Amino acid sequence: TDPADYIRQTIRSVPNWPKPGVTFRDITPVLQDPQSFRVLIDLFVYRYMRQRLDLIAGIDARGFIVGSVLAYELNLGFIPVRKKGKLPYQTVVEDYSLEYGNASVEIHTDSVRPGQRVLLIDDLIATGGTMVAASRLLQRLGANTVEAAAIIDLPDLGGSQAVKDAGLPVYTVCTYH
Ligand code: 5GP
Repeated sequence: TDPADYIRQTIRSVPNWPKPGVTFRDITPVLQDPQSFRVLIDLFVYRYMRQRLDLIAGIDARGFIVGSVLAYELNLGFIPVRKKGKLPYQTVVEDYSLEYGNASVEIHTDSVRPGQRVLLIDDLIATGGTMVAASRLLQRLGANTVEAAAIIDLPDLGGSQAVKDAGLPVYTVCTYH
């Protein structure tokens, strides 16, 4: 089987969670199974091993799991893009709107130097709000964000297109409509 298909088949779809009418795409079975976890990380390793990256920026919280393993495999540093209020040192913050209400992401001001080549990674792109806000943080610090990567794209929500419209290439392993 194709590695991306294998990952897709391992993801669990949970209907009506976190609310009625929403189907949550759950990656925990991919992490739990050592074979699929390795296939997933290796897909990213092969894509990014020759891109001369400097850092991997993982988004709170599932982006930390894949991002930190990928950084370790590629011999790169890892920087966390956190939900607001978790980081102890000086930060920059970006607010963005969700379907109901608002959210904020935050990064340490010294986490990246101007011109450094950074990969942004998360588990899933829905509306793209989180990924776009995270890319703005990196842009404000002068980083060169090379690509936005995720395991899953929900293209019908327009998020991956919004990230591309913000000027950032997008790579996702699999898609759900
Ligand atoms: P967006 O900002 O693109 O609308 O939402 C993406 C964020 O919400 C990601 O950080 C992701 O972890 C989370 N998210 C939203 N829906 C799902 C889902 O169905 N499955 C998973 N694993 N994460 C989701």
